Amino acid sequence: MTKILREAKRDQETWDLISPKVIECRCGDELELWDSWENSCTKCWASYNSAGQELAPRELWGEDTGEDFRGPSDYSEELDW
Ligand SMILES: [Zn+2]
Repeated sequence: MTKILREAKRDQETWDLISPKVIECRCGDELELWDSWENSCTKCWASYNSAGQELAPRELWGEDTGEDFRGPSDYSEELDW
């Protein structure tokens, strides 16, 4: 379970992100979750979504249970054919 250091703050009307959620990465570093999809720690490269849930490495996407990722076909452009 990722430790949440600070909840995100959003504009009441526009819902724009004023300040992001801040979590404690598994390496102990603080990580600001600006991106709604994926935020990577600059120290250990662990990835978290906007909710602060750690994401599996891209190679393992789709094998994880309970994750709502798109199918691997959407990432075919990243494969080195
Ligand atoms: Zn980290």
